[in-house]
Amino acid sequence: MSVYTGPVFDMARQQFSVIADHLDIPEDLRERLLLPKRAITVSCPVHMDDGSVRVFQGFRVQHHLSLGPTKGGTRFAANVDLGEVAALAVWMSWKCALAELPYGGAKGGVTVDPRALSVRELEAVSRRYMQEMIPFIGPRIDVMAPDMGTNEQVMAWFMDTWSMYQGVTVPEIVTGKPVSLGGTEGRREATGHGVAFLSFRAMEHLGIDPAGATAIIQGFGNVGSIAAYALAERGVRIIGVSDHTGAIHDPKGFDMAALRAHVERHGVIDGFAASAAIDPEALLEQQCDLLVPAAVERVIHAGNVANLRCRILAEGANGPTTPEADLWLARNKAPVFVIPDILCNSGGVIVSYFEWVQDLQQYFWGRGEVLERLERILDRSWNAVVTRAIRDGVSTRTAAMAIGVEKVRTAKMQRGLFP
Ligand code: NAD
Repeated sequence: MSVYTGPVFDMARQQFSVIADHLDIPEDLRERLLLPKRAITVSCPVHMDDGSVRVFQGFRVQHHLSLGPTKGGTRFAANVDLGEVAALAVWMSWKCALAELPYGGAKGGVTVDPRALSVRELEAVSRRYMQEMIPFIGPRIDVMAPDMGTNEQVMAWFMDTWSMYQGVTVPEIVTGKPVSLGGTEGRREATGHGVAFLSFRAMEHLGIDPAGATAIIQGFGNVGSIAAYALAERGVRIIGVSDHTGAIHDPKGFDMAALRAHVERHGVIDGFAASAAIDPEALLEQQCDLLVPAAVERVIHAGNVANLRCRILAEGANGPTTPEADLWLARNKAPVFVIPDILCNSGGVIVSYFEWVQDLQQYFWGRGEVLERLERILDRSWNAVVTRAIRDGVSTRTAAMAIGVEKVRTAKMQRGLFP
């Protein structure tokens, strides 16, 4: 029996099997490519503010070590489990390979709602989780980063905990740190910037003028909000947004400066343009040029895919579209151009890679240089995916994953099987 269970890992498995068939990968190589190398589960006991002690479950999954250390974010969310973390680690592998980064994929998580913790409790959970991971990670073994529910501050605590254990400052143990602690310029906005950059490439590809185009964004955290602001800057009308507190929709478009001020003040969308409230599920089905899911997995599924009325689906989130929805899009020749997650949100790990390189060299680049190098890699990946999709007559997701899986497969074949 596999320890990797649950709907999100099933989804990663199903997607892989489509690619394995497409690439004609022999049966005896499939499990070697798909199953994670290591999975670590830890218990993190923490003193709560009310004097009690609570134990939080933590996970880290390192998918493959064939191309270098593993790399991936750490998610703090109430429903995190091993299967989800493992799926996210697998996707990270294909994403890093597609971007030609010298990493395998990893992911971590703690089953906790960070919004329900005080700042002191959040610091205690972060430090204890990192402390439990010390035997299993390192700058040349596995490098952490932020994901949903974690941020620069959490990365600073991770880095400090690891460094105290080493007795020297080791900034290269995590990426997504504050710039003042060895983080890189451009990391905070890298994923959202990349989502917007690739959305513009897709618009150009389809002959859509950004000035006058419309977009709907699900999730207004790091990825969704930055993507929305970058799209709006070039004239895209943001007609719908949502977060875990609710959704709003107005075909005339929202005043993004006002929305930004509201979110910076309150942290959530709730309370902004209340008269434009809409059912969050229905928001995804409204007419728009660009739909950007930038929150959680499996939000485009068999039950709503037929109702999509967007021309471009830019997957800011990891795993927002189920394999059943993918199949429906392919079978019905739906006129929806998908920018698959492993391409669309790869800006984050690309700039994380830049951060790691700068930390190892102790030589730092300016923001302009970071973004220019980021766009060069995104451009290369975009061209590779679109060219391959056309050449092989397959979906953009199949093309992107095939490039990633092939790269990992080649590395494993060239290195051979030890002993
Ligand atoms: P975040 O914690 O900053 O923001 C998440 C947002 O999603 C919040 O606005 C939250 O309210 C909203 N949300 C949560 N559940 C929701 C729901 N059911 N419906 C609508 N909105 C909901 O997280 P983030 O870093 O922006 O990550 C978002 C997604 O992007 C995740 O899938 C993550 O794995 C992926 N991603 C993030 C990065 C990165 O650099 N941060 C990189 C690659 C991929």
